This record gives sequence, structure tokens and C-alpha cells, in this order.
Amino acid sequence: MSGFRRTQVLVIGGGQAGLAAGYHLRRTGLDFAILDAAQAPGGAWQHYWDTLRLFSPAAYSSLPGRPMPAQPGHDAPDAAHVAAYLAEYEKRYELPVHRPVQVRTVVDAGDGGLLATTDDGTWHARALISATGSWTRPFLPAVPGREVFGGRQLHTTGYRDATEFAGQRVVVVGGGNSGAQIAADLAGHAAEVRWVTRRPARLLPDEIDGRALFEIATRRVNDGGPRISDLGDIVATAPVRAARVAGLLADHHMFDHLDADGPVWTAGERWPCGTVIWCTGFRPALGPLAGLGLRDADGRIPTDGTRAGADPRVHLLGYGDWTGPASATLIGVGRTARAAVTELAELLG
Ligand code: FAD
Repeated sequence: MSGFRRTQVLVIGGGQAGLAAGYHLRRTGLDFAILDAAQAPGGAWQHYWDTLRLFSPAAYSSLPGRPMPAQPGHDAPDAAHVAAYLAEYEKRYELPVHRPVQVRTVVDAGDGGLLATTDDGTWHARALISATGSWTRPFLPAVPGREVFGGRQLHTTGYRDATEFAGQRVVVVGGGNSGAQIAADLAGHAAEVRWVTRRPARLLPDEIDGRALFEIATRRVNDGGPRISDLGDIVATAPVRAARVAGLLADHHMFDHLDADGPVWTAGERWPCGTVIWCTGFRPALGPLAGLGLRDADGRIPTDGTRAGADPRVHLLGYGDWTGPASATLIGVGRTARAAVTELAELLG
């Protein structure tokens, strides 16, 4: 087959998961390439809002090899600091990141390998690591009236800065980390914020930061123990705690529908507002793998560790606990990346 670029392992995605895979691939001597659709390094971190702070101090937020330096003046670094760390990381380890290159489809090449079609040519690889994250697939729930609401609607992915909502009434929907953090961020700026959750918001105990999340997730896999979700849904970062203590972060139960002016609850209560921010999560960006037939009847991709159950050439990295304990965190992804690369090195001999 000519006209294709060839590599042994193709990594799709150059965020923290793709870079952690690259770090370990370098050590195997396998030939590899990382294709990243983004214009700049940093994965999702380059898109987070300006005031977002990590769950943990820098020392507990590192990829393999290179500790994240502390950010002067901050216990927990901000998103720009993480993006700069990732940019420096890929340079330091001379990772072969091709950017911007969007992978559109991956199919079986028919010769034991895989063919990835991109917006910049086709790659042939013997194996693949999908590390595309979920930022590019925001999820919006089917709430009646979304189309009739006359105000502004945005998803977490569109939120950058609380000051643009100054003086407005804003509804924040979602009982996870993004919802709590954005509601807390807005609390000092918007005229009024109403934070709406499907079930009562559950903050994790104060001492549970990113490191503790990783330890709990690892312990659960190794010897049982509580699931993180048994303990709570939201990391009590300093701004979230401060807003809660100031009484600015009370949660309300979910409304029934939206009308032109804002949310309407089942009992008829209304709360007219200018903006609804949907902090309703993400789905893994696995579209390029659709042609490989990896999904089961329920539409899930079964995995054993990071390996796709239906195809040992394909590994899924960084999507959450179903692809390795705390694998969607900076501190957690290194370990799963090493396991994925070790398996691929064995497969490829
Ligand atoms: P991403 O960072 O999303 O990178 C994926 C890359 O793949 C992107 O560059 C994307 O452009 C590219 N890509 C996607 N599709 C394709 C394609 N088809 N072809 C080529 N390239 C593609 N984690 C922590 O450890 N600590 C925290 O404090 C923390 N706080 C968080 C707060 C919020 C609000 C959120 C949303 C997440 C937080 N996380 C935190 C989690 C962490 O940010 C993400 O899990 C992480 O960014 C995922 O990394 P990733 O490499 O898997 O994906």
C-alpha cells in the first residue's frame, strides 16, 4: 500500500492521555505518531474557564516523568498553567505530535493493520490508542422547551468568564463538578444564580482532592472498597466551599420545562432568567472508531483494562474509570497509559 504514512502505533488525541501514552511508547522503541485535532497543545485545558482551579496541588497533578511545577501564588494551579505544562511536556519528550490533524474514520486495513483517514491524509498503523477525551462531545439533555426559551443557552464548553453575566439572572443546570464550580464562580458576579440539580448536590468530604480520588479508585479496583460516587459527586474545591459557606450555593431541584422566560417547575413556580448554562456533561469522543464494530448491543464498547474487548489492536485511554481507575485525571492517566503500552508492546512483539 503506497501513499499512506505508516507507523506501528497511532495515538488519536494529544491531550494529557495521548501525551502519557507517548511518554511510555517512547520507552518501548516502537514507532508511533500522535494526531491531535486541536490548533495548540493542552487538550481540553486550553478551553476551560479562566478561574478554574485544579482539584489538587501541582505535585499531585503530574504526568509520568516530569512533575508539574507549582504555580507561584496558588495552591491549586489554574487551567492555563496545566495547558502550559502539557505544551512543555510534549516538547521535553520530543513527542511526535501532528497538529492540527482530525481523524475522521478508522477501519480494518485487511492486512492485519488499521487505516485512519484524516483531514490531512491517511495513516496505516498496526495498533491504535484512542485518547480523544470528551470535551468535543458536550451532552445536552432532552428538556422540554429548550427550543422556546428566549434567553441565551450555553453548555459548560461555552463558559469562559463570570463577568459577562454581570447583573443577569442565570440558571446553572447540573449537579457535578462543572455545575458546582460554574455556579460558585458566577455567585459573586451575576445578579442572581439558581443552581438546579436532578438530585440533591453531594459535596465530597473536604479532604478528598485529586490524589485521594485516585487512591480511592485504585483501591476499589485492587481490593474492593467504596466507589467515589458512594461518597459524593463534587470535589469541594476552595471556591466551591467558600460559595457554599457564604450561602451563595444552595441547590434547587430540577425544573419541569422551559418556557420563553425561563424554567417552570411542576408546581407552577417560575424563575425568569436571561441565561441557562447546561453543565450536563460529556460523552466520549469515539466517533472515529464507529467502523470497527467495537460496540455491544447496548452501544457500549466493552473493555478489559484499556483494551477493546472486540479488537486487541485498539486501546481506549483516559475516558474514566471504565478505562482504568481515575484515568480521566492527570495523576491517574499515567498508570493506565503504561498498562496500555505494555500490552501493545507485547502484541506487536
Ligand atoms: P482532552 O484533554 O479532551 O484531549 C483530547 C484531545 O484529542 C484534544 O486535543 C482533542 O482536540 C483531540 N481529539 C478529539 N477528537 C479527535 C480526533 N477525531 N482526531 C484527532 N484529535 C482529536 N482532571 C484533573 O486531573 N484534575 C482536575 O482538577 C480536573 N478538573 C476538571 C474540571 C472540569 C470542569 C473538567 C471538565 C474536567 C476536569 N478534569 C480534571 C478532567 C480533565 O480535565 C479531563 O479529564 C482531561 O482533559 C481529559 O484528558 P484527555 O487527554 O483524555 O482529553
